[in-house]
Amino acid sequence: MDGPPNCMKTASTNGPDTCRFCKSTLRHTFVDLGMSPLCESYLRPEQLNEMEPFYPLHVFVCERCFLVQLEEYVSPDHIFSEYAYFSSYSDSWLEHCRSYTEQMVERFALNSQCLVTEIASNDGYLLQYFVEKRIPVLGIEPAANVAKVAADKGVPTLVKFFGTQVAMELARERRLADLLVGNNVLAQVPDLCDFVAAMKMLLKPRGVLTLEFPHLLRLMEGNQFDTIYHEHFSYFSFLAAEKIFDAHDLALFDVEELPTHGGSLRVFGRHADDMSKPITPRVVEMRAKEDAAGLARIESYHSFAERVKETKRELLQCLIRAKDGGKAIVGYGAPGKGNTLLNYCGVGKDFLDYTVDRNPYKQGRFTPGTHIPIYPPERIRETRPDYLLILPWNLRNEIMQQMAFIREWGGQFIVPIPEATICS
Ligand SMILES: [Zn+2]
Repeated sequence: MDGPPNCMKTASTNGPDTCRFCKSTLRHTFVDLGMSPLCESYLRPEQLNEMEPFYPLHVFVCERCFLVQLEEYVSPDHIFSEYAYFSSYSDSWLEHCRSYTEQMVERFALNSQCLVTEIASNDGYLLQYFVEKRIPVLGIEPAANVAKVAADKGVPTLVKFFGTQVAMELARERRLADLLVGNNVLAQVPDLCDFVAAMKMLLKPRGVLTLEFPHLLRLMEGNQFDTIYHEHFSYFSFLAAEKIFDAHDLALFDVEELPTHGGSLRVFGRHADDMSKPITPRVVEMRAKEDAAGLARIESYHSFAERVKETKRELLQCLIRAKDGGKAIVGYGAPGKGNTLLNYCGVGKDFLDYTVDRNPYKQGRFTPGTHIPIYPPERIRETRPDYLLILPWNLRNEIMQQMAFIREWGGQFIVPIPEATICS
């Protein structure tokens, strides 16, 4: 190491083969998932015969700061202008948000004089709970169609990409945040340094920021390669996140492990000079845990790619056995991660008759690349398939409960990750 990485001291532009944070040359492959279409580009019927762009899904790990990352193959304007993912369609996710609101209001004594700002606030799925408590909120959301849904719910929303420009405008208007929230957005930021610098600008001197992101340690341990897609530019360990915030004079003073998205971290940050919130023992434990897992050594990242190939072979063997036995398989869900899995494994209509999704935006469309039709969930009761492949495997318990009726005709579930498993 030649001194701590600090993106503020270097140019903000990023070459194709340099680390998004510390600008070191990227020389180590984490995993190469081949070519894939954008995983949220669900196709309308009239688009099925058109050419479809595919981009590489080649992930690198930086040997200096250990940020796992994907090159920015596609501009975020293109990805997020009409984003199909409306957060409000999962019951367990909404419960997670309601409980987060309760905890934050109590722990940080939030009241009607405070401002809670959320970056990538989607359809107001989270801020609605603060609104219920009469705490002022501001959402910042780049996708206009999604922001409109939020505004209709009474969640004031700025339709903008978050960065230093927006943060400066808000700071000038004295709209600084007591609580600044970013859930599952950090991974989607191409200019990481600008984003974290903007968080620093927008936070009140004694304010708290919380971020949730999938934990790289869990991705590696759980073989969750399908959570890699073009919309996710970076994959964070606590170790890498700490380096990035530290470079912007922000300290991560607490961390929680969450079950969401296959295992996430919720980190709590503050200005480095705000001593009113001491570093908790949980931070010390998390550093030790990642260190013990080898996340600070480049060699530890090299075995992941081989395990991903094994997972693909296992899933295919499971599906081939079912088809050879004359069984009907359909999918449940059409999440972004499902599309990485289906494209990488080469699973199309030859295996899955269709998939279903509760999100009306996706119904009547087709999965990108694999062109599997997406129907409302009621279709399953009508066609009585033998197997249901659960694509959002992180919600498998909730889905197996909702879909328990498939057992009436002997139907079974297939969970693809961490390895293909049949659950009757
Ligand atoms: Zn780096």
